Amino acid sequence: MKYGYSIHTGETIEAEITEYGDCKRFQIVCPNCREYLFKVVREEPIVEHHFSHYRRTKAYVDECELRVGALDPRDIDRANIVSRGQKLQLVLRVLKEAIIDYCYDSRDIALRCLRPVLRSKAVHRIGRRVWAEARLRPEDFDLPVERLEKEIRDAPSALSRDLSLRIAGDLWRTLLTESGRGNFDFLFAHGYVQASGSLAIKEPRTPESERIEDFLDTLLRLPRERGLELIATEELPGGCFWDALNLVITWSVNTLVSLPYLKLFEQARR
Ligand SMILES: [Zn+2]
Repeated sequence: MKYGYSIHTGETIEAEITEYGDCKRFQIVCPNCREYLFKVVREEPIVEHHFSHYRRTKAYVDECELRVGALDPRDIDRANIVSRGQKLQLVLRVLKEAIIDYCYDSRDIALRCLRPVLRSKAVHRIGRRVWAEARLRPEDFDLPVERLEKEIRDAPSALSRDLSLRIAGDLWRTLLTESGRGNFDFLFAHGYVQASGSLAIKEPRTPESERIEDFLDTLLRLPRERGLELIATEELPGGCFWDALNLVITWSVNTLVSLPYLKLFEQARR
């Protein structure tokens, strides 16, 4: 049959866009009887992609074929949109915990790294500024996701990569709404930690990367008023203010793209 239903994403998926491993990864079942399916590609006379039941009697399979074949693509689209919205809400609820769990070696390390950044008034203020700018010009801030598309090396299949990119894009847009601000602040703080950490181990070191690293470190160590003064002027040696922010944004978006969404969905179902 042409369609399968993914238990993990709650969406009906076309066989055409899946690869062999996707049936297991996405837990693809028959939209009619909910039995597990596997992927088949028939080469002759023309290439055709389908899903097939493991072991079932012919009459049973025919019944499923008939019912699934009769599904209206418009109904499928509508149901998928609803399901995506629900999944997005789920990810938003667990986003902070997921970042702590998946991006740091341990919870202790995560809190030790994040705490000073989350406490800094100056970082909070530049985060809010990025948030406000991104709301005004969302198209400029969608770019990092496109740029990162080539970099999701770990995605086991095109479908997994598409899922990550789609959710990352949806999340990013949601974080730019009023209700997304809390999560945005957290993500920005995490991006700050990652940007700073990446510069500390960057080789070869360049004057530019050292300036940015120095700025990110200094801002955290300055007394509150001095920190706020520093970011108010934006007059930094070598004009690295926006370079530093861009790096933090890139790491923030990179985090959204690289979170293991299928695993999160699976955990949520338990
Ligand atoms: Zn079936």
